[in-house]
Amino acid sequence: MLTSEQARKNQEKFGLNELTEGKRKSTFRIFLEQFKDFLVVILVIAAFVSGFLGDVESTIVILFVIIMNAILGTVQTVKAEKSLNGLKQLSAPAAKVVRDGTLKQIPSREVTVGDEVIIEAGDCIPADGRLLTCMSLEIDESTLTGESLPVGKSLEEPPKGAALGDQTNRVFSGNFVTYGRGTYEVTAIGMKTEVGKIAGLLNTASEKRTPLQISLDEFGKKLSIIILVFCGILFVMSILRGGSVVDGFLFAVALAVAAIPEALSSIVTIVLSFGTQKMANEHAIIRKLKAVEGLGSVSIICSDKTGTLTQNKMTVEEYYVDGNRTSAEDISLDCHGQELLLLYSILCNDSSNVQGQEIGDPTETALINLGKRVGLGITDVRDKYPRLSELPFDSDRKCMSTEHKMNGRAVMIVKGAVDVLMEKMAFVWEDNFVRTFTKGDKERINAQNLEFSQNGLRVLAFAYKELEEERKLALEDEEGLTFLGLIAMMDPPRTESKEAVSRCIQAGIKPVMITGDHKITAAAIAKRIGILEEDSEACEGAVIDHMTDSELQDFVEGISVYARVSPEHKIRIVRAWQEKGNIVAMTGDGVNDAPALKQADIGVAMGITGSEVSKDAASMVLTDDNFATIIKAVENGRNIYQNIKNSIQFLLSGNFAAILVVLFASVAGLPVPFEPVHLLFINLLTDSLPAIALGLEPHRAEVMRQKPRSMKESILTREYLFCIGTEGLCIGVMTSIAFLVGYWSDGAAFASTMAFGTLCASRLIHGFNCKSPRPVVFSSAICNNVYLIGAFLIGIVLITCVMTLSGLKGIFKVDTLNMGQLLTVYGLAFLNLPVVQILKWVKTRRVVL
Ligand code: ATP
Repeated sequence: MLTSEQARKNQEKFGLNELTEGKRKSTFRIFLEQFKDFLVVILVIAAFVSGFLGDVESTIVILFVIIMNAILGTVQTVKAEKSLNGLKQLSAPAAKVVRDGTLKQIPSREVTVGDEVIIEAGDCIPADGRLLTCMSLEIDESTLTGESLPVGKSLEEPPKGAALGDQTNRVFSGNFVTYGRGTYEVTAIGMKTEVGKIAGLLNTASEKRTPLQISLDEFGKKLSIIILVFCGILFVMSILRGGSVVDGFLFAVALAVAAIPEALSSIVTIVLSFGTQKMANEHAIIRKLKAVEGLGSVSIICSDKTGTLTQNKMTVEEYYVDGNRTSAEDISLDCHGQELLLLYSILCNDSSNVQGQEIGDPTETALINLGKRVGLGITDVRDKYPRLSELPFDSDRKCMSTEHKMNGRAVMIVKGAVDVLMEKMAFVWEDNFVRTFTKGDKERINAQNLEFSQNGLRVLAFAYKELEEERKLALEDEEGLTFLGLIAMMDPPRTESKEAVSRCIQAGIKPVMITGDHKITAAAIAKRIGILEEDSEACEGAVIDHMTDSELQDFVEGISVYARVSPEHKIRIVRAWQEKGNIVAMTGDGVNDAPALKQADIGVAMGITGSEVSKDAASMVLTDDNFATIIKAVENGRNIYQNIKNSIQFLLSGNFAAILVVLFASVAGLPVPFEPVHLLFINLLTDSLPAIALGLEPHRAEVMRQKPRSMKESILTREYLFCIGTEGLCIGVMTSIAFLVGYWSDGAAFASTMAFGTLCASRLIHGFNCKSPRPVVFSSAICNNVYLIGAFLIGIVLITCVMTLSGLKGIFKVDTLNMGQLLTVYGLAFLNLPVVQILKWVKTRRVVL
């Protein structure tokens, strides 16, 4: 055991308990990677060639624009990476250590050599070490040894040179405790641990692409081929018409660079990373990025009751001992039955309360808090009746047992669910005597349990058994028990649960309560928060035991509350919903919940009370354990998806417009409407900035009035592509009109300036069209996105400078426009707003009709 001072010194000496991830990319490398695009390289080469042939100005501007683009790309990538790394830190695991003689919970990265660490079922081993104590400890070491079954640990020294899997008195970082408890002294941390030595495991840094990114990448590739073919044809046509090879080539490449939406999947990363930051501030930490997309499609939320829908602030309300009910306020140590129950509830209990810091399960802290209030010294009691062995709590068994040395005898104390323990009773404690447990006793206790449960109370039964001798407890010992009493505690629903449930239903999502608690207690709470209708009943998990999978699929439809559920039931329920085509979010906190969390489309773990193993399996962690946070996360997920859709719509429609204008000019036998510099400038100014700004659009509550989006539905639906097409056409038409006006009045160079200005301004204005699939001009929402307004203003100022300052004429290959011409450009560009808004209005009306 260390003191805080020793721990600090060790941390200085050995460093932090962290695995250094594969070398992180430097900012400069990220910057260089912006140039790895094949087309950009070709463009740079073409620009140099054209410079050698005399057009030095173009070369400089092209290089400048490309470098600016790369800087912008680097800033976005670095920011996105930073925020994703920040998220990882937020969901970093914690460890329980004894320092300065007291139990403390600290981040695992602060564990150091010499620390005494306490581990129990569900915990992740924070560092390598040697066991000091060990009670039925079993550890899943599959990541290290490949052995899929948990390994039983003991204090026995293994033979020298034993393989890792046989070193039973040692524990290794990164593994999970599946059963039991123990303490160990840390011998190695960070890269010095066994897992640190395995280089292959260290490449955990790379985040996989999300399904949306994969489908966009595929779409982007197909689109690129079409654009390249188109540009190739243009190039050949320009040569056939007798144009210069270098100029024609430069134009074709510049058009390809401008029109190919290379930013599609990086827009997704950027919007997701900013979105997840917002979600983290609202208590939902995303561990797997693809969960954000999935959240928008969730149609079923299976939630625990305790702590998620309820406050997890348990307070003991009533005692039932010796046939009498006593309210918690009236409990007295003078009554022997009550004293015994209190004593047993402190002994058969793993929680602690040191200087106000409660550590452990709230069900158990409620018991010691009561003990404290009545004046029992928790540590004194535990020292006086030391624990000899134990059978830890397990949500399958729904009970736990501890063995103590009490007045020279070995006594086993058992606490757990009433219905489970009733089957194990042989005797009953009554007025200091023990007599046989009768059918009448069982009926009386069950009736009392029912009464407590109907009031939404959680009830624990307490029993004991005197053992002939001290021995390590085995499961078979949990038989022939003596009933002592019941303790009923209240865990009120969270105030926000009722509203969250109603929002969830409004959003077309079915909330399902799946709890380990008693059927009547679960139903009482579910009715209070609106999950269960007044005259409906909850169903017990055991009911589904004999159902086939297809029977279960029909059954789940009508059930909103499952009680006394085991982790296996959870998996079957999730799977049944999934097979009916639903996207299921499932919460879990326990040691055995990991498989169900993995099975669910969105596994949600509890940040405060959840075991490390459940957090590891989950794709989202709630830092406030609150059901309402899941609903907020769904809202965020839906909004983020919509924002990504808007950004992409903006990018593709704008790029399509540029192609249309070039196509129109070449079909009409007119000169090329843009210079390469124009295309690159449009690409720089009107691609990334407004697209990212649209990704950061403020979230709309209206998304929660829609049905969940089908996960099978691709983002690129026909309707969506049709919108992109019509909007692109609209911008293309305005730009072509500007081109024609310029051409007829002042010739090719002037026409090109008009077309360049109109396309640029149209795309900037089109950003406002892409804010929503609905018309927004007449609502306050039109100006609620400062980033979009900023991108618009920067763009308009720059393009106005280019078109009016005579000094920039040569560099940007433009003619200087007078006021009237400038107004024509802006007028045509502005027209896109009413036209597209009217189209949107017609479309939304058609949907409503
Ligand atoms: P939820 O699944 O909604 O979180 P829960 O906390 O009731 O509900 P479990 O933790 O699986 O689910 O508990 C199941 C039952 O086991 C409880 O209803 C209670 O009777 C009993 N129980 C819970 N905690 C303990 C404990 N620490 N010791 C003994 N029995 C317990």
